[in-house]
Amino acid sequence: MSYQHQYIDGTHIHYPLGKVVCIGRNYAEHAKELNNPVPTEPLLFIKPGSCVVPLGGGFKIPTERGSVHYEAEIAVLLGKALSTHPTEEEVLDAISGFAPALDLTLREVQTRLKEKGLPWELAKSFDGACVLAPFVSASAFSDLTDIGIRLSINGAVRQDGNSQSMLNPIVPMIQYMAAHFSLHAGDVIMTGTPAGVGALSVGDELVLELPGVSRFTGSVL
Ligand code: ZN
Repeated sequence: MSYQHQYIDGTHIHYPLGKVVCIGRNYAEHAKELNNPVPTEPLLFIKPGSCVVPLGGGFKIPTERGSVHYEAEIAVLLGKALSTHPTEEEVLDAISGFAPALDLTLREVQTRLKEKGLPWELAKSFDGACVLAPFVSASAFSDLTDIGIRLSINGAVRQDGNSQSMLNPIVPMIQYMAAHFSLHAGDVIMTGTPAGVGALSVGDELVLELPGVSRFTGSVL
């Protein structure tokens, strides 16, 4: 399924889909639940644009490579390129919008790769591994250190976090990312997942939301 960035009112956003820059273990409670140490510096990885699909009414998951874990995350859409060392104001000016998203992960595959010290692409970058909901304009957000993210599955809340618990808050995180990778309009930042990750099953009904801002439903096909 082809993907194009769009706002919650259905209008298309003209920036082309770029890459998805992600941070791992950005909430201490999530690092602990997977028995990972809390990193002393940001742990970054990139998902290619080819793995992005819209949440739409639903999305597919791989079924023959072990469990597929959901990781609900606040996604940030960039609407401008950033310099290598952007100021806080430049980062704020470059943010186009926010959406809830899923960083899907083949968890057993990732565990095997981690044990061998190998890169994570096989677990994190498969087609469909990044599920994005439509964005709400950044102008609707006054405090980036107080954005909620919540995922319910089959009526039960599984993840309920807030950006106030991030080890690396959104603006310094993007400054750190910009120092390592050129960031362009259309790139997406995935800001890490709070505790509560778990496996998805075909037929699961999801409600993915930035509480009080935007709310979407989708099923695992
Ligand atoms: Zn993640």
